[in-house]
Amino acid sequence: EEAKPAATADDDKYNMAIQYKKDEDFSGWYTDVLIKGQMLDYYDISGCYILRPWSYSIWQIIQNWFDDEIKKLGVQDCYFPMFVSNARLEKEKDHIEGFAPEVAWVTRAGKSELEEPIAIRPTSETVMYPYYAKWINSHRDLPLKLNQWNSVVRWEFKNPQPFLRTREFLWQEGHTAFLNKAEADKEVMDILELYKKVYTDLLAVPVIPGKKSENEKFAGGDYTTTVEGFIPTTGRGIQGATSHHLGQNFSKMFDISVESPNKGEDRLHAYQNSWGLSTRSLGVMVMVHGDDQGLVLPPRVALQQVVIVPVGLSKGEGKNQPIYDACAQLERELIGAGIRAKADLREGYTPGWKFNDWEMRGVPLRLELGPRDIAAKSTLAVRRYDNNKSPMPLSDIGNTVKKYLDDIQSSMFNRAQEKFDSCLIPVINWDDVVPTLDAKNILVLPWCQGNQCEDDIKERSKSQANKGQAEDNKAPSAGAKSLCIPFDQERFGKFPEGENQKCIQCGEKAKSWTMFGRSE
Ligand code: AMP
Repeated sequence: EEAKPAATADDDKYNMAIQYKKDEDFSGWYTDVLIKGQMLDYYDISGCYILRPWSYSIWQIIQNWFDDEIKKLGVQDCYFPMFVSNARLEKEKDHIEGFAPEVAWVTRAGKSELEEPIAIRPTSETVMYPYYAKWINSHRDLPLKLNQWNSVVRWEFKNPQPFLRTREFLWQEGHTAFLNKAEADKEVMDILELYKKVYTDLLAVPVIPGKKSENEKFAGGDYTTTVEGFIPTTGRGIQGATSHHLGQNFSKMFDISVESPNKGEDRLHAYQNSWGLSTRSLGVMVMVHGDDQGLVLPPRVALQQVVIVPVGLSKGEGKNQPIYDACAQLERELIGAGIRAKADLREGYTPGWKFNDWEMRGVPLRLELGPRDIAAKSTLAVRRYDNNKSPMPLSDIGNTVKKYLDDIQSSMFNRAQEKFDSCLIPVINWDDVVPTLDAKNILVLPWCQGNQCEDDIKERSKSQANKGQAEDNKAPSAGAKSLCIPFDQERFGKFPEGENQKCIQCGEKAKSWTMFGRSE
């Protein structure tokens, strides 16, 4: 069932405070914050949401930054159709098996049935690669690096959740082809590093880069890398973005090949990658930073970084004009310094009402300006993320605010990173598994990397978590699935038993620390 919002834009409740506590009713809190923060609105098709300017602008900032970065890697943008014929979709078997249950089909145009149903792309591998085969004829045509910004449709049957799991979502999908595996491998990691930066540098959200298990990798590919995020309130992991190496699986299927430079040798099949980052990232940002007052936006992505609010107003015609003028002047100065600032000069609302309104919408910095501040050539700066209040001199305010916003950005990241670190718990005894999960942590387990053990860990943690729990008491707890094998193994230290460390499930030799957890 899709969680319904507590208030919609038509309700008179709309402008009141957030009605749920983040710690008490997380899903109520999440939808309330999204609606009242004006990030999105609900729609009459379950799993589809309207992105309002407050969230779409964040997506655009991510888009602009990421697009500039991939251009530096030689990637070009393009656009392929959203409709896919059945024949094309089914061309790669493993791949379609992964997606089949979620594919949406168009069966009719007006009143007439289509001769053959047409699929709406769930991702574009099989749409694009026949053309790669056509366009790539010589080694001089490689590498080919294309990206598209589009939306895809996956008719998910798990609970839809705004941003995190939606039936249509916005993303970019990059599809590249190389002559050598080494070049392709390198690109997988270059892209993953960019994904990491989208989270850490733009959204101030910590993530852990790593490799997916065989079970969790992209079907049809050779291996999948991921940046894994964490939602502290629920203790759940969330896949942030994925960069896949497809090996030669698709190039053999679609015959994307070039002549070998060595006479008499077989044709060489290209090594391919695909990689995607979606609007899910916005939901993770909201869940990580938001609080009981509403959204908390990191300055780098906030459409509005600073709000200026006139205070200390007095009654009487025209009396407040000097304050309004000073606010407008401050707004001009900040905009001149390249800061996204706005003075809230709306009549008929008290300063307190305005404070609440902008807090709900997560504006990173509020500057209060009243007669006493003006006399003191100063303004009161109030930080959204920790409610710190301190006076700030008006002279050279552009530079001061810029530094202040940078400081807010890094403090928000550090706070979230500390929280994530404190919830990543290495566990080597099975008895600690379920209690550690129940305390809203991510497990870091010594694991043999076997598929069977992975399944067993999930089942065993699930059944133990639900044992002794009254049927009508709680929804059943999920088991721990593997999230990723972090590339940075050092951060968890050496195995306590060194070389002889056993897999927590089967007791055979452990290959790596691996993150397991409940996931969103
Ligand atoms: P995939 O093609 O499955 O590797 O997906 C690429 C990225 O898109 C994932 O890493 C997710 O972050 C995101 N994603 C996948 N499914 C959804 C969905 N239903 N809604 C929003 N984002 C999604």
